[in-house]
Amino acid sequence: MAVASVIKAQPLVDQTLPINKNILVVGGGISGMTSALRLADQGFQVYLAEKSNELGGVAKNIFKTLEGDDVQPFIAGLISQVKEHEYIQVITGAIIVDHSGMPGMFKTGMQIGPQMFYRQINHGVTVLATGAIPNPTKEYALESCKAVRTQLETHKVIAKTPDTVKEWDNIVMIQCVGSRTADNPNCSRICCQTAIKNALAILEINPKARIFVLYRDMRTYGFQEEYYQKAREKGVIFVKYSQDTPPTVKPEGEQVEVTFTDAILGQKITVTADSLCLSTGLIADNDSSEELAMIFKLPRTADGYFLEDHVKLRPVDLPVPGFFVAGTAHSPKLIKESISQANAVAARAQTMLARDSINLGAAAARVDSKLCASCLICVRTCPFDVPFINADGYSEIDPAKCHGCGMCVSECPAKAIQLMQFEDDKILAQLEEIFEKVNA
Ligand SMILES: Cc1cc2nc3c(=O)[nH]c(=O)nc-3n(C[C@H](O)[C@H](O)[C@H](O)COP(=O)(O)OP(=O)(O)OC[C@H]3O[C@@H](n4cnc5c(N)ncnc54)[C@H](O)[C@@H]3O)c2cc1C
Repeated sequence: MAVASVIKAQPLVDQTLPINKNILVVGGGISGMTSALRLADQGFQVYLAEKSNELGGVAKNIFKTLEGDDVQPFIAGLISQVKEHEYIQVITGAIIVDHSGMPGMFKTGMQIGPQMFYRQINHGVTVLATGAIPNPTKEYALESCKAVRTQLETHKVIAKTPDTVKEWDNIVMIQCVGSRTADNPNCSRICCQTAIKNALAILEINPKARIFVLYRDMRTYGFQEEYYQKAREKGVIFVKYSQDTPPTVKPEGEQVEVTFTDAILGQKITVTADSLCLSTGLIADNDSSEELAMIFKLPRTADGYFLEDHVKLRPVDLPVPGFFVAGTAHSPKLIKESISQANAVAARAQTMLARDSINLGAAAARVDSKLCASCLICVRTCPFDVPFINADGYSEIDPAKCHGCGMCVSECPAKAIQLMQFEDDKILAQLEEIFEKVNA
């Protein structure tokens, strides 16, 4: 079979294209800014497009990490380094509206500012760092009772008005609010450590406070476990609840009554809490990621996060060559994990930018115009929208954009399309060989 195929083989020429060494980073949070800085430090021109009017993202609302690092001075330093860098151009108020081109030579159009003026950026690499958003759940009287706050809001009270914390005698924290449910099966990964971070900070300000953490599973992975242990040693009471019997909450004036079942005592306990902190976690920014996925033709997970090309072999590459993903646009992550991934993206992007041309291989589909009936089936079949009807009225496939998946080849009723390296006559020669052997 191999010999029969080789007899029919034609020489193939790899497609190579020059690389535009500019980089477009979409999203000006901690991940986007970190990738932008790393790449700009290597002398590449970076365009950082942020849809809001300022840089920083979600981390602007986080004051301390679990380990006690100050986030705000770090973010402020990052923003000023980015803004002052000679190779970074920050474009705020930017909405990505169109995208074309091929790996190494992309063109992305955006509308900028209140006037929505249009600007097109030519770039060879795209970094997606559009983040995620706080889960907007309204469970447990979150909107109606003043004593009920999210962990992020509690964190702000601790950082900005510590005197309020001194007035709290009983604090209850409920984990997995709006997460690990049928609607949102994801674990947000940040909530367990946030609860412990806030509990330890509350005890620092008000050592007499009684803190109850109602959890389904404590997921303080890695070295976070040390802080979980510290919280237990300091008297924080952890009570496991099951998804079938969640705690109930009843606002009582300035306070809130929280009732839960203690599995060890086997009975219901009611705590009158001065503050109820809900660990609501984060979700993918579906509005943003759906639109960008359509414009850039990128796959997403069922939860709306951008899906990497291969979880172990290409964890920061997206399936379209020249596209990379960093931070919570990819999956829930802590700040330090987002920074690590942003650094990984900068390193991966440089492996591409270090070359002067990009090799796209030779396995691309080719249309025989004499056979093409312009039926549009290939245009509709291609998952990457590559075939188009050209000015001469027949289908054309840009070999630089073709992914070589072969779907148009198998669908074309006129057999007008061949996938180079896997042409029909080579495959038929192989099959004839095996049929002859079977019939002999
Ligand atoms: C509620 C919550 C609490 C958290 N608590 C902690 C904690 O205690 N400790 C910790 O270490 N980590 C915590 N994190 C995680 C931490 O915030 C993230 O790891 C980090 O902020 C990720 O940065 P990022 O740049 O990937 O995303 P983001 O900070 O979300 O930034 C994304 C940026 O992209 C922009 N953007 C979005 N869509 C577009 C678009 N279409 N075009 C252009 N720009 C766009 C956004 O405006 C934003 O500025 C928390 C996250 C959340 C949501």
